[in-house]
Amino acid sequence: MLALAGVMLAGSCASGGDDRLAAIRAAMEKLRPLHRKLGKPGPSDWLASHPEPGQTFEEYVESKPIGPTAERRTITVQPLGDFSPAQRKIITLTANFMGRYFGLPVKVKEDLPLSLIPAEARRTHPSWGMKQVLSTYVLDSVLRPRLPKDAVAYIAFTASDLWPGEGWNFVFGQASLRERVGVWSIYRNGDPASEFALCLLRTMKTATHETGHMFSMYHCTLYECNMCGSNHRAESDRRPIALCPECAAKLWWITGADPPARYRSLAEFCREQGLKTESGFYEKAINALEGR
Ligand SMILES: [Zn+2]
Ligand SMILES: [Zn+2]
Repeated sequence: MLALAGVMLAGSCASGGDDRLAAIRAAMEKLRPLHRKLGKPGPSDWLASHPEPGQTFEEYVESKPIGPTAERRTITVQPLGDFSPAQRKIITLTANFMGRYFGLPVKVKEDLPLSLIPAEARRTHPSWGMKQVLSTYVLDSVLRPRLPKDAVAYIAFTASDLWPGEGWNFVFGQASLRERVGVWSIYRNGDPASEFALCLLRTMKTATHETGHMFSMYHCTLYECNMCGSNHRAESDRRPIALCPECAAKLWWITGADPPARYRSLAEFCREQGLKTESGFYEKAINALEGR
């Protein structure tokens, strides 16, 4: 989900210069053949109910996106509530993956208890019956007052289901475009005790998608891409974790990443975790960038 859509973005680019822009544009073109254009949305898909304009790389650069600075470079992960040992492992691995995805240091903070959430920011879903926590309360009242000075993004993980307010059933995650805070839940990601790799992949997707929003990236409307909006589980499951050329270029621009080095690190992680489709894609991307 994209919170606060349509707000004016303010901030500064991590890096500049025409040479860097030219190198990014050249790398984008090498990757384009590896990616699939987005087809027409199905009736229950995100774009059918949330028509969005999308955002090209060039539009992103023009928007003066928020990104890491010399003082704020750390992605800080905040566990919120209780977790099983398998859920804890998912969080640790996802934190590791985020470091590789964004090319930034990641810190995992000490747990905070769910008792911080007052009764008025909780509910039982009226027809489904599960307990839910109000995502906007976590953003505004749990995270913002505790935002570390060196954090470019401060993100809570919880095992509780989340909902963002009236008119919504649930959200996988929610992030602010301007305030450097985000929250996501592993509640709907499957049981890590019986389907660990699937649960890990889903958590990695939500984590990197929401953090992408925190770096001022809008939903993708051009390609099958990790930055596409998702209305339901089947839609998010069929999206790749990889970013399309336009969205990958935004990330290279805002973080100063070296594209082949980034893909090598992502491929290594996915190989180690048995995520074969993902490691296979990243290996193809390395070959495309290096002209093999
Ligand atoms: Zn989103
Ligand atoms: Zn994209």
